[in-house]
Amino acid sequence: MSYPIERVRGDFPILARDVNGQPLTYLDSAASAQKPNIVIDTERDYYRQGYAAVHRGIHTLSAQATTRMEDVRAQAARFINAASDEEIIFVKGTTEGINLVANSYGRQFFQPGDNLILTEMEHHSNIVPWQLIAAERQVEVRVLPLLADGTLDEEKLSSLIDDRTRLLAITQVSNVLGTVNPLKRLIARARAAADLVVLVDGAQGIMHGKVDVQALDCDFYAFSGHKIYGPSGIGILYGKKALLDRMPPWEGGGSMIQTVSLTEGTTFLEPPWRFEAGSPNTAGMMGLGAALSYVESLGLDNIRQYEGELMHYALESLQQVPDLILYGPADRAGVIAFNLGKHHAYDVGSFLDQYGIAIRTGHHCAMPLMAYYQVPSMCRASLALYTTREDIDRLVAGLVRVRRLLG
Ligand code: PMP
Repeated sequence: MSYPIERVRGDFPILARDVNGQPLTYLDSAASAQKPNIVIDTERDYYRQGYAAVHRGIHTLSAQATTRMEDVRAQAARFINAASDEEIIFVKGTTEGINLVANSYGRQFFQPGDNLILTEMEHHSNIVPWQLIAAERQVEVRVLPLLADGTLDEEKLSSLIDDRTRLLAITQVSNVLGTVNPLKRLIARARAAADLVVLVDGAQGIMHGKVDVQALDCDFYAFSGHKIYGPSGIGILYGKKALLDRMPPWEGGGSMIQTVSLTEGTTFLEPPWRFEAGSPNTAGMMGLGAALSYVESLGLDNIRQYEGELMHYALESLQQVPDLILYGPADRAGVIAFNLGKHHAYDVGSFLDQYGIAIRTGHHCAMPLMAYYQVPSMCRASLALYTTREDIDRLVAGLVRVRRLLG
């Protein structure tokens, strides 16, 4: 089957608009992806026809909204092949998912003198929550280093792990380099060396190929709805049931309790509800369900193949730009980070914006990775299921023009 790119682009209304008098070339999907009509319509219809508070209501609308919310939980479980719906926690996004694990699991199970392992390519959201809990629990943070080709120094993993290692937190795909980490192999190695838990940051992996949390054998997996064509403000944290059962709540409030007494204290619901305090973002959940269905209707393998060919084309085409410095391995998913000679990424991005080309510039919430490459910032173009060769051609032509202008 050939990939139905024209139909796909027609599903995303924003792609038809102009920016600065030019057709929009949207190459910033890794920061946040655009939304197909089905997601927009599902949220709108829910607010128009289906909205009510969930969990508490005896009335029909509330019961229907609750059923739909739990249906999306089941759908998310199937999407990543979780063993049970009860392993799926609704969160605001990847960041909140990781903070939940750090604050619940970390605070409960990390002891002074323990250590945890991160990698040098992590996004700040998979660094800072661990630093915070490590400082509180007197835990050492160890770092699996990068190699010059943008992959991790796998051989170092075993020497970093000892019998006090409690956790490995690692991204599936680097949001800067596009490196696809060999998670199965790394996780198996880590488990062979110590009795630890593994958290995978799936923010940049979930939209580029089929994820199977059981095959990966990770303990936690977090992703954000907005990067997989769903709404912002909603995401998923997967956690193995046996672990969630042992974890205390991290936020208190309504919807997560069994009984509350001012004299006897509070008892809590079972996971996942124990971790979902307060009134949730139900419209976001409905939109997320629509987004997952949309992606599945195209087929994750088809998306992976389409984007893979496009990545190949992009990396080839970018060779035409003089002085372009590319970062990251040839084999990658989703993103292309670069600098144009000595020019600041901000200048390059600002000029491209004038031509209707949206890219991301800055440190990409990965300052340790910038430090490794000894640059303050990079430009990043990212590919999505609606990106075309014409988008890439415009980027290349834009960069050639910017270079001429900046000298
Ligand atoms: N991890 C990675 C690898 C990311 O790219 C991002 C988003 N830029 C995050 C975590 C954080 O995601 P969110 O802001 O949606 O919580």
